[in-house]
Amino acid sequence: MAGKIRPEKATKPKPAKLKAAEVISGRCLCGGVEIETDAPVFWAWHDHSAGSRLAHGAAYATYVGCWKSKVRIAKGEALVTRFADEARGQVRSFCSRCGSPVMFTRKGSPKWVNIPRALFAGRTGRESKYHVAIAEMRDWAYLGAPVGPLKGYPGVTVEKARKAPRKKDEGLFEV
Ligand SMILES: [Zn+2]
Repeated sequence: MAGKIRPEKATKPKPAKLKAAEVISGRCLCGGVEIETDAPVFWAWHDHSAGSRLAHGAAYATYVGCWKSKVRIAKGEALVTRFADEARGQVRSFCSRCGSPVMFTRKGSPKWVNIPRALFAGRTGRESKYHVAIAEMRDWAYLGAPVGPLKGYPGVTVEKARKAPRKKDEGLFEV
């Protein structure tokens, strides 16, 4: 149409790409422990299993999985304490000062170290789109429902609408 004003093509800022083998650094809550690895990390995944849920005190934990040979404790090695979960064949390392989990290894994967994704403020070169033990996901986990402000409580939001719980025999899709 003649004369129609066309908006300029939207220019989305592109996320900064990581250069090959860039060193990224993560830190615990108190900053006493710093972990370094190479980015892009191998993969990033959500762990819904009970061990990670309890160790993090959260619905699930998100990790970046890295080759063990590429993970270094850059600072605070003396602060790092380990808990061997013999029953699960797992070792969890955490900062003895602030309690932040900093590393997680599994018996069946001796060459791998998993680092909590949250330790890294910046990018790690991988999207966290894989899930382990998703069948164990808790029904109280937040799944991204829309939220709105809660009147009288600044900073608190509440989920706007909640779907009625599915009946046991209902499938995922309605016909
Ligand atoms: Zn700490």
